[in-house]
Amino acid sequence: MADPRPLVETVHPLVRRVLAHNPSAFTYTGTQTHVVGHGEVAVIDPGPDLSEHVDAILAATSGERIVAILCTHTHRDHSPAAGPLKAATGAPVMGCAPILARDGSGLEAGFDHSYAPDRIMADGDSISGPGWTLEAVATPGHTSNHLCFALPEARALFSGDHVMGWATSVVIPPDGNMGAYIASLDKLMGREDEVYFPAHGDPVTRPQRLVRLMMGHRKQREGQILRLLGEGPQSISQMVSSMRLQKAAGASVLAHLLDLDARGRVAAEGEAWRLVA
Ligand SMILES: [Zn+2]
Repeated sequence: MADPRPLVETVHPLVRRVLAHNPSAFTYTGTQTHVVGHGEVAVIDPGPDLSEHVDAILAATSGERIVAILCTHTHRDHSPAAGPLKAATGAPVMGCAPILARDGSGLEAGFDHSYAPDRIMADGDSISGPGWTLEAVATPGHTSNHLCFALPEARALFSGDHVMGWATSVVIPPDGNMGAYIASLDKLMGREDEVYFPAHGDPVTRPQRLVRLMMGHRKQREGQILRLLGEGPQSISQMVSSMRLQKAAGASVLAHLLDLDARGRVAAEGEAWRLVA
């Protein structure tokens, strides 16, 4: 980045964010760790295992007490710093459940397998401190364990990687699930949050509008896939090239196909996918 953003910014009277130095095509300017409250604070998404980032969180909360370390999900740009931050502060780690690789190899390298929460939060579970409450909102899809956290005192939602202003969420099977992701978008449509603080990118105002756009985007992609299969059975790589997508989008096309399969609309035959009449 030619023009690095400030390390610590106040985005709401109750919320500060600390930017990690891990910018990339997947993390935008980097992971944003949020600090909620004053005096007794919660830290959301401690970030990647970079000692300089743990030091930056400790500096930003100097003179305060971290009472909880919360994780939205266990991708390696979100949760690995939980361990070192807990070691430095004694604060408990809580939030999403760990993801256990079923066969020890089935999951992408992008997951943090060191994550060991002291308390797993389920949908609706909350913790509170002076002037703040954080309530878990289960939003599986990007990962099966993804949680958002609502901060009712600010009518805000920490949206993790579920909804971000700079890019759509990546949904990669087998852990990522398109049907669950769309249901989790729909769940947010039923809420009345006024702002989202995503883990990457700027705060999202008028968030419902963005959620509706994202649902429309997925519906459009699904329609494209069904139209292509209407021309005859074909493989994912054929569909990816017909839609002029990057090769990496194959995982997302697969996520759509698995969702359509679960709904009885398509079926696989070897490499090819076809419509179910
Ligand atoms: Zn993620």
